Amino acid sequence: MTIKAVFFDQDGVLYNSMPYHAESWAWAMTKHGLPYTAMETYRNEGRTSVGVIQELHQRMYGTPASPELVEAIYKDKTAHFTEMTGGFPGIIPDVDRVLNFLHEHGIACWVVTGSGQKNLINALNGTFNNVFSGIISSFDVQKGKPDPEPYLKAWERCGFKKEECVVVENAPLGVRAAKAADLFTCAVNTGILPDSDLAAEHADKIFPDMAALLQWFETTITNNL
Ligand code: MG
Repeated sequence: MTIKAVFFDQDGVLYNSMPYHAESWAWAMTKHGLPYTAMETYRNEGRTSVGVIQELHQRMYGTPASPELVEAIYKDKTAHFTEMTGGFPGIIPDVDRVLNFLHEHGIACWVVTGSGQKNLINALNGTFNNVFSGIISSFDVQKGKPDPEPYLKAWERCGFKKEECVVVENAPLGVRAAKAADLFTCAVNTGILPDSDLAAEHADKIFPDMAALLQWFETTITNNL
């Protein structure tokens, strides 16, 4: 396969943010009467915050959550996340090596995230050596993951054929979105879910960490030079 573009998910792939997202979501939801666990956060990763809150509220109380409640939960969640991370969660080990390798080999790197956290999105190019050709965030799409729209948008904008594009994801619903967009998908299991959750969404490859992904890129790309 000839790779010309790689689409990276943000949370749990570029930033080591998932443990803090999980903890702060569980804390804020539970505080507002919606019992929620870190494990559920990992399973729901990729869904919009409002969607997750509404679903849980509907299940618990049989009614939709008010806009005020949604806002209060989101505010508390963000405050807790910022308190734990100082605003910046750090990067996934070795992902900078993956990005630098691809960039040096002329492969376009894109970010495709459901995140709407502006401080983290704005920090992407500064954090990762300006390697990104483009960023698709929640501000660019009507439907978030697991809908294929975010990945289809990146594919349309990058200008390459589908078979020349690869997705790097960590979350089951992210893999579902990428596969629904008909893209080759590498899952890197950086979280607490079993590999079988990623396999169930038909990830083409599953790696335990970024060093293993880098090795695969090195082999695949060098063989095509
Ligand atoms: Mg992710």
